[in-house]
Amino acid sequence: MLGLVKVLVADKFHEDGVKLLREFAEVEVATGLKPDELLERVKDCDVLVVRSATKVTGEVIAAGKKLKIVARAGVGLDNIDVEAARTRNIKVINAPEAPTVAVAELVFGHMLSFARQIPRGDASTKQGRWEKKELMGTELRDKTLGIVGTGHIGQTVGHRAKAFQMKLLLYDVAQNQEFAEQTGGKYVDMDTLLRESDYVTLHVPLLPSTKQMIGKQELELMKPTAVLINISRGKIIDEKALIEALQSKRIAGACLDVYESEPPIDSPLFKMSNVILTPHIGASTVEAQRDAAVIVAKKIKGAIV
Ligand code: NAD
Repeated sequence: MLGLVKVLVADKFHEDGVKLLREFAEVEVATGLKPDELLERVKDCDVLVVRSATKVTGEVIAAGKKLKIVARAGVGLDNIDVEAARTRNIKVINAPEAPTVAVAELVFGHMLSFARQIPRGDASTKQGRWEKKELMGTELRDKTLGIVGTGHIGQTVGHRAKAFQMKLLLYDVAQNQEFAEQTGGKYVDMDTLLRESDYVTLHVPLLPSTKQMIGKQELELMKPTAVLINISRGKIIDEKALIEALQSKRIAGACLDVYESEPPIDSPLFKMSNVILTPHIGASTVEAQRDAAVIVAKKIKGAIV
């Protein structure tokens, strides 16, 4: 098949990935295609590469008579009709490992922002106020971090937390004792983790078993001084219950990158001073995007050459 592989890259894709693809394929980069243009261009392609913008519908899959692979340079497959691909025996490839460090570092960005009130300090200093006395912070050192989900991201958070001299409580349906030993972490049940943690960070995938796994009952177990961090998926938290817990000061704060519905519109969260919000930027680093392109290009090569 070498030399004959035709790849259509339909979304922005890091040039390192394109370079790798060109080693074994004829690559056409055509971003911003209208749906009918995509249907036309995909006809004689072996591989279609997208990120999140292009919708790979059943119609697109049917039009790609020669398609063997649909590749998503990223994690979520929401924009791809995976079932239609499976029916036609087309492989769907993605790169769930690419944003691990990006997400883990954002957890620390949020925790430090909360502990030292960095967003408030930035805003008030720029407004010409000198809130030195008001901005007394706390340290992460010796605080207990509860990690819910100790897969790729949870472990990467855990190793960094160890360097911050945090204590770790862990919860996962599949325990990794080697990770626990390396970080001095301890696997406990969910209730214990919620009761004893100063920060709780969620790193489970969205599944029927994790949907709204943090609701009123769970929030009531948390310390009034605790902070909840969610950089996984919005629907893992019952957002209404979280808003009530924050309004009533049942917990001290929340750091959120993801929401029940995105973008959130007119949310009560916007007016809360004990909340730090970012617009789903967990994977948005130059390195994560480059890694996603390179990983996907290598997987395509492995699958097709
Ligand atoms: P992973 O598959 O490596 O780890 C997930 C862990 O969750 C596994 O150890 C699994 O055993 C555990 N788990 C599954 N169901 C559970 C349950 N019911 N209770 C407890 N533990 C359970 O995944 P990862 O790479 O660490 O990513 C975690 C999630 O982070 C992804 O699924 C994704 O939703 C999210 N994510 C968000 C962004 C962002 O931009 N905010 C970027 C990348 C990933």
